Amino acid sequence: MKEILYESTRGGERGITASQAVLKGLAEDGGLYVPERIPKLAVSMEELSEMSYQETAYEVMKPFLSDYTEEELKDCIAKAYDGKFDTEEIAPLAKVNGVYFLELFHGKTIAFKDMALSILPHLMTAAAKKQGIKNEIVILTATSGDTGKAAMEGFAGVPGTRILVFYPKNGVSRIQELQMLTQKGENTFVVGLEGNFDDAQTGVKKLFHDQAFAKELDAMGYQLSSANSINIGRLVPQIVYYVYAYAKLFKNGEIKKGETVNVTVPTGNFGNILAAYFAKEMGVPFGRLICASNDNKVLYDFFQSGAYDRNREFFVTASPSMDILVSSNLERLLYLSCGRDAMKTRGLMEQLSETGRYAIGPEMREAMKDFASGYADGKETEAEIRRVFEDTGYLLDPHTAVASAVYEKYRKQTEDGTKTLIASTASPYKFPETVLAAISGTSPAFAPGAAPAEPSGTAPSAASEAAGQRDESALLEELERLSGIPVPAAVKELSSAKIRHHAVCRPEEMKETVKSTFSKKRK
Ligand SMILES: *Cc1c(COP(=O)(O)O)cnc(C)c1O
Repeated sequence: MKEILYESTRGGERGITASQAVLKGLAEDGGLYVPERIPKLAVSMEELSEMSYQETAYEVMKPFLSDYTEEELKDCIAKAYDGKFDTEEIAPLAKVNGVYFLELFHGKTIAFKDMALSILPHLMTAAAKKQGIKNEIVILTATSGDTGKAAMEGFAGVPGTRILVFYPKNGVSRIQELQMLTQKGENTFVVGLEGNFDDAQTGVKKLFHDQAFAKELDAMGYQLSSANSINIGRLVPQIVYYVYAYAKLFKNGEIKKGETVNVTVPTGNFGNILAAYFAKEMGVPFGRLICASNDNKVLYDFFQSGAYDRNREFFVTASPSMDILVSSNLERLLYLSCGRDAMKTRGLMEQLSETGRYAIGPEMREAMKDFASGYADGKETEAEIRRVFEDTGYLLDPHTAVASAVYEKYRKQTEDGTKTLIASTASPYKFPETVLAAISGTSPAFAPGAAPAEPSGTAPSAASEAAGQRDESALLEELERLSGIPVPAAVKELSSAKIRHHAVCRPEEMKETVKSTFSKKRK
């Protein structure tokens, strides 16, 4: 098969190999790497239906990562999808009220980021070896809650790598924060940012574009790479579970050969749903891809009107991993929807950075007609958790509940009865307070804009940290009692884990923070 190379959505780079794209993360012109064509699946659905997750991963990823040898790729897959996951299926399906929840939360951090971040470090170190890189790879990541922890779990202890994560100090759940602050590994670093996720993401992007900064790091023996969802090494592994899920529905007799299935995805940075789109382009018979938003419904408005506008109020919601106003991966869909016109894409992105908005015309909108969209506000999300729990005993986390609520609205509005997969992106145990409030009907957590109680700008004292950890375990026990679902080990450990990270900084201090972190720790 002919090798697939990558090109930048902004036209500045072409002919980039997969391993180069994985290492660089972002193109130097600020664009995102896109494969020059999307390959078709080389095996039949019958064959896929008999494959394990690992075998499916190889089939799906191989054509995209064509400069990795069979041995390299199989080694990466074996290291990623092993006993870290609490089920051999890796991504099991749960049929609930006639809808299929694709559970992407069986990894170390009980959220879907594990699906890709378990393999990315191995794809990166294999790529570095291929390219003869001597520098240590520094992963700099902005997180809205889940990516940071999942990335640190993935990179912790991987030789030749270090990782520094910035998270919005008051924009993540208590469990998410504890997960990050207790992270082990000499090569992991966490900083609470006094700002929101967009501040963190903008700051990290700036550092990636700062040539002088790159030189300084190089002199220290480091080079930057990105584990954020713009990395092709994140996107490609996410295609796998969509192919796998469809093949399992077929194998289990839930669908007929070639039957169309819709997919609903709770969306933030547009990475997960873009992977579903790639799966469809590879030949999986998916119908509508339903993009679900929370109160930060910038994507919903975009699909409704063709105008993307980030100039709006930012809400801190009960589904923090979707609290995003600039969905980075949308750039790839824009590029693919205008016939790979890099000038056009660059222009739109320039408008976005200069004015915070852009609009696309009817042709591009037509090219996006596979996508439907909807949003659910805090009240609807809460009601959906309660409804599904009362009807079926199945517990949704707030992100999955947004998708479920949006899907229900979509089905009522369109009368589209096509079978549907809903990407279930986190375990309910990742957000116990919110989920408990929903099923017991006491719900301050669902008011948009409701920020967590801690005052901003002060590092919590050791005593208040310890008290927080105790409150958390009481919540977990209560949730276990009500739901009858055992607390996952990953969460249980947290109640006694030591807080190892205490750093806090302001957005304008991010560069200094990176430098001082690594100059101090350099051995
Ligand atoms: C990251 C995340 C999302 C959003 O996924 P994108 O790929 O950014 O659209 C949804 N739910 C959870 C739990 C997440 O961690």
